[in-house]
Amino acid sequence: MRHKVFLFIAVPIFFILSGGLLLVCRGGGGQAEAREAGARFDPQKQKLAAAYPRFISGYKGNEILFKDGTAMQFSDGRENKDWLETLNNPDLEDMLSLEYSRGNVTGPFKKNFDPGRIRYVPFFKKMYGRSRREVEANLVPVKWMPRYTNITLYVTRINDVDRKLREISSELEKLPERLRKYVVSPGGTYNYRNIKDTDRLSMHSFGIAVDITVKYSYYWNWDYKNELDDITYRNDTPYEIVRIFEKYGFIWGGKWYHYDTMHFEYRPELLVDINDGIVR
Ligand SMILES: [Zn+2]
Repeated sequence: MRHKVFLFIAVPIFFILSGGLLLVCRGGGGQAEAREAGARFDPQKQKLAAAYPRFISGYKGNEILFKDGTAMQFSDGRENKDWLETLNNPDLEDMLSLEYSRGNVTGPFKKNFDPGRIRYVPFFKKMYGRSRREVEANLVPVKWMPRYTNITLYVTRINDVDRKLREISSELEKLPERLRKYVVSPGGTYNYRNIKDTDRLSMHSFGIAVDITVKYSYYWNWDYKNELDDITYRNDTPYEIVRIFEKYGFIWGGKWYHYDTMHFEYRPELLVDINDGIVR
């Protein structure tokens, strides 16, 4: 008798769950469950789903599923790309292939260890705009450290990047005076352009990147000409500053073999906790 009752309840539940119901990812806190029912858990795809809950509904097979009903290929199936090919023609899989570590990570880094520098540009165009005009329609002003400057920076409001940069600005204002010079004269934010000497669109083009004070920064391409050169690491930016940006989902170019120590960009997929979707 008890056995029959169990079947009466369990069988319909099984059919409901196996019917391809989409488990929709919840925004903000809480468990970011973004697989389709039946899809195998994949930590790399889950990073994207957890980091961008407003855009991504889940993933299935080799595809990232977007809330607008479209899908994007995760892996292009091409392994063994050389370094230039990885930079110039990456897929989402390549983009996540180098693990970014938060906190006090000190160079030098091993050759071409540039976590976050590999970017699948169509992914960013989809969220932030496919053209200069589309990106600019979402740019908003952020008063930068208003206690100490009259500077206004423009960043996108998509994914709350503007709100996050305001939080960063107010935390930077509380830093001791000796650290202020590194951030009080930012080099720039929005600028629709290619990366120096390349055909690759800069993340500054999407209004998600900030350069802090140029004068106290190092950029590998000022010191070396070629992407494939052997590079000696340089940095002066203190980690107190890096930690504040990372707290709000921005990665730092000072954690790259190809160092760019003024550069921060909003890349929560490299910092998110895949269990609860929160950047820590
Ligand atoms: Zn930059």
